[in-house]
Parts: sequence; structure tokens; C-alpha cells
Amino acid sequence: MNSHLKSGKSKTATILLVEDEPAIQELLAFNITQCGFHPIQALNATSAMEHIKRELPDLILLDWMLPEISGVELAKRLRADQRTHNIPIIMLTARSDEKDKIIGLEAGADDYITKPFSPRELIARIRAVLRRRSPQLSDKITIVGDLEISPATHRVNIKSNGFSIPLGPTEFRLLHFFMTHPERVYSRSQLLDQVWGDHVFIEERTVDVHIRRLRQALEPYKMDHFIQTVRSNGYRFSSAPS
Ligand code: CA
Repeated sequence: MNSHLKSGKSKTATILLVEDEPAIQELLAFNITQCGFHPIQALNATSAMEHIKRELPDLILLDWMLPEISGVELAKRLRADQRTHNIPIIMLTARSDEKDKIIGLEAGADDYITKPFSPRELIARIRAVLRRRSPQLSDKITIVGDLEISPATHRVNIKSNGFSIPLGPTEFRLLHFFMTHPERVYSRSQLLDQVWGDHVFIEERTVDVHIRRLRQALEPYKMDHFIQTVRSNGYRFSSAPS
């Protein structure tokens, strides 16, 4: 039961660290692990892009000064690509010039940290950006219509009558992602990226299987209408009729 609860909890945020100075890289990884996040380490932009190709991180800490491809250049490339344009980016830099800050933000960074930084400031900024950009990683209760989902207690409740809907761990994560991103259409590949964290090794059919299970779990409570199929596109969570 315990392991089931654990695996069903919303996933730990994966943070890609792109930093060419090993000492700073290790310091970042240490602090991030301490706060319960999962770090992935890359020493340059090319290695970062290889990681991203396999798995979308939840956030990127991106050093400005990198060999070959700079942090600003990498940020621009990620913003220009449909698959990666939504990944939150925090730029790290030794430059504290207002002008440089603007260049970083214009390249698509969400926030900006000047070295040397305090670990507390770093973590506070990561948390703030994640809260803003990745609501599915938060433990906050989300309510849509009569449906209420609580990642902290791993429960889905019907507000009006207090019924609790039993869901498997993957269906729970899927529903949580949908409820925190309502009214938008997601392709199977996007759902694999966002909910499974892997669109390379998992077949798209897997999404259909779990969508079916989720609908079956919601159906006895007349809540399955939220999960809508958008022909040849994917799926959408909507409180409006399809
Ligand atoms: Ca550097």
C-alpha cells in the first residue's frame, strides 16, 4: 500500500543543470537534491540537448557562459522548438548588468540568478518558477467543477457528496496533469512527455490504455465527460461539452 501511494504521488521535479564549471555544478546538484528535486547534470549545451531529447526536464538551470553554444543561444533554441518551448528556464550568470539581464529574459528565461548566489535564494527561485509554470508538480488541491484532486493525500473526491474515486498511480498523475491544464488539447506524445516523462521508449498506445482506465474509473460517478477525445489530435480535459 505504501509503495503504491509513493509511486502515485506527483513526480519529483527533474532539474537539468547546464553548467561547465564542475565545482558549481556539484554545488547546484547538492542543493537541489537536498530539497527533494532530482538533478540531471550537463557540462555543455550539446549534452543538455541530448538529455532533453530523451526526457523533458521540469526546469533548466542554465549557465550563461558555456563553451561553444552559450546559455542564451540554448535558451533561444529551446524556445523556438514546439516540444521544448514551455520548459521553465532560470539563467545563471556572473554578469549583473541590467542590459545582460534583459538579453537573458528576451532569450526566453523565466528568471535570472547572479553568481555568487545563496542556496536559499536559488531554491526559493526554483520553487517560485515551478509553482508558476508547472502546477502539476505542486501538492496543492485543484478543483474543477465537482471534482477535487489532492496530491498530498493522493485522493480524488467529489465535493458535493464526499465520495472518493479510487485511481491507479498513472491514472492519478494523468488526471492531475489534466486538471491543472484544463481546456487545452494534448497529443499522445505531449502527454508521454508531461505525465510519463518519456516519449521515446513508451508507445503512444500506452496513453490510450490509461485514458480508457481513467474514464472507466470516473464513469460510475458521471465524471468521465471531462476526458474528451479530440479526433486525430489527442485529449483534452474540459468542463464544457465536447
Ligand atoms: Ca560557465
